[in-house]
Amino acid sequence: MDYQKIIDELHQKYKNEDNIGKVASYIPELKKINPNKLGICLLTLSCESYGAGDYQEKFSIQSISKVFALTYALIKVGDEIWKRIGVEPSGDPFNSLVQLEFEKGIPRNPFINSGALVVCDILISKLKNPKLELLNFVRKLANTKDIYFNEKVVASEKSHGFTNAAHVNLMKSFGNIKNDVDVVLDFYYHMCSIEMSCEELAKSFMIFANDGVLKYNNEKIISLGISKRINATMQLCGHYDEAGEFAFRVGLPGKSGVGGGIVAVHPDLYCIATWSPKLNNKGNSYLGFKVLESFTTITKASIF
Ligand code: GLN
Repeated sequence: MDYQKIIDELHQKYKNEDNIGKVASYIPELKKINPNKLGICLLTLSCESYGAGDYQEKFSIQSISKVFALTYALIKVGDEIWKRIGVEPSGDPFNSLVQLEFEKGIPRNPFINSGALVVCDILISKLKNPKLELLNFVRKLANTKDIYFNEKVVASEKSHGFTNAAHVNLMKSFGNIKNDVDVVLDFYYHMCSIEMSCEELAKSFMIFANDGVLKYNNEKIISLGISKRINATMQLCGHYDEAGEFAFRVGLPGKSGVGGGIVAVHPDLYCIATWSPKLNNKGNSYLGFKVLESFTTITKASIF
């Protein structure tokens, strides 16, 4: 299959398509992005790499970082974390508070904001220097030192993050946050502010396509069991109240972020990342969804 041709054609087609999405504006710093960016990067398990458009430009990965934090927490703490976070789809928006009170401060899953905030709390308790250690973990997965937080995005989110503050406070009242509320929020906002390109994201998610093993040096980072569980969680929860739609139309485990990125994994075959900043009304990239849907349709390579 001529993957480069397929990706170039998808880029060409969607670059010119009417995009009814909207750039995230609730984090003011994210509004500054050029809304017309479009990047696609595909890496196969046989180490072939294909890119089109803005696939080497860094952007704010936002909630995609929740997958890195979960992976790192599973490495450092193990299955204990599941006492404090569930693995069920929430069926609600990523920042919804409604279930959290009925369910006594236990988030439905690690990919909605409340779940990721608990993962951050767990990492803070376990690590000496959580921000640097998480960043170095991501750098290792992507095989580059050139990955950083964006402090402007951190400050922007901090000054508008009233709902995230409500989540942490509510969970603290139920005893599911152990550290200081502001310390947890500061770590969470740093994690969300990480900037990476589609190419770096695809590289760093390859462990989930390759049974937990880094492609570039064959180092085993996580067990096959953890890799399978993270893929299952991405499949069911990676797109919040649109996870069903993503399974229905794309058919791959995947994770999105409000910076407009989506990364999707086909275990044992490939990893693909897209970036287009305009979001649909569920907070997922409008064009990213379409590109991925077309890709798995044309290549007949979804997991179903
Ligand atoms: N930092 C964002 C927030 O907390 C992440 C949300 C997302 O990417 N879905 O709201």
